[in-house]
Amino acid sequence: MIKKQKKYMEQFLSALKEENLKATTQRVAIFEEVIYGEKHRECEQICDSLKSSKVNISRATVYRTLDTLIKYEFIRKMDIGDGRIRYESKIGHPHHDHMICVETGKIIEFTSDEIENIQDDIAKEHGYKIIKHIHQLFVKPINND
Ligand SMILES: [Zn+2]
Repeated sequence: MIKKQKKYMEQFLSALKEENLKATTQRVAIFEEVIYGEKHRECEQICDSLKSSKVNISRATVYRTLDTLIKYEFIRKMDIGDGRIRYESKIGHPHHDHMICVETGKIIEFTSDEIENIQDDIAKEHGYKIIKHIHQLFVKPINND
């Protein structure tokens, strides 16, 4: 395990302690799956992936562990307005925005300093500073025919 990963694991273990939760193999597996696995997944997909790596975990445990991970800001919930909750790791992923393809459901990440600056300016003009923003673009492929 590289040094940084070890640090995150330690932070996770102390979060569990704080919550009076035991550091079980299952919880550790959920942590690693969500932090280092594929992004933008629903609980169901996370469960399936854990199942295929032969870790036997109840959905309730996954949900509860996800809640703990959110509370301690290891991950964030992502809502693209389709009634499904997706999760993404905040570790090692600096701020970014999302583009969602309405035809394929593909989620594309992007960043733009220009957009960030313009947003800051707009907020400032109104006497505010931005503490967080959610920027989602709904797109479909350009048809060339
Ligand atoms: Zn993302």
